[in-house]
Amino acid sequence: MTPDRLHELAANLREVRSRIAAACVDAGRDPAEVTLIGVTKAWPATDALLLRDLGVTELGENRDREAAEKARAVPDVRWHFIGSVQTNKARGVAACADVVHSVDRPSLAAALDDGARRAARVLDVLVQVSLDADPARGGVIAADVSGLAEQIAGLDGLRLRGVAAIAPLGSDPRNAFERLRLVSNELVLNHPGATVISAGMSGDLEAAIGAGATHVRVGTALLGHRGAPLR
Ligand SMILES: *Cc1c(COP(=O)(O)O)cnc(C)c1O
Repeated sequence: MTPDRLHELAANLREVRSRIAAACVDAGRDPAEVTLIGVTKAWPATDALLLRDLGVTELGENRDREAAEKARAVPDVRWHFIGSVQTNKARGVAACADVVHSVDRPSLAAALDDGARRAARVLDVLVQVSLDADPARGGVIAADVSGLAEQIAGLDGLRLRGVAAIAPLGSDPRNAFERLRLVSNELVLNHPGATVISAGMSGDLEAAIGAGATHVRVGTALLGHRGAPLR
């Protein structure tokens, strides 16, 4: 961990925060409505600690092993699990994450509930919505969101907080994020506490904020290109 890395992360963070602020101005929104999640996947825990010390209080991971290790190494932040979860890994994820963004099937909701109750905690969860109907990228289709939401609402170990999505590849993210906003509007009618919209990454956070995102998940713009870590 070098002072250079601290300065690099600080500069990247300033840039990301100013992009968020500008997108909020364009959308007529208060920047306080948008939470930055720093996605530290594939970067060392030392980077996660630096981000925390720079004031990023929400961090994200997408693999169960790495998430458990970093959650242990970096306390005093909220850990978001943003990757797909195999059902047999749900217990471990429920024990280390504070929020899971990728609940997309009843069996996973049940397994996370079981894991959370065994760990004597209540896990915040988001229903992952498929915006491109590509099963490989996860998520439920919009028509199935309300059924899954009902199931989650009935589980003591889970607290339904909203929806999450990844923009489809190769098309304007704006339309997809607008569809996510409609799904969210409908969900909130029956589940008033489920107001989170997790959408937007390094390349499309402006479009996501324009469509109402409350949480953006930013990796590359904060930490650099994975595969070439600077230590
Ligand atoms: C990696 C990842 C991100 C962050 O992507 P960047 O383009 O590096 O900002 C956001 N969301 C999910 C689900 C991811 O897997």
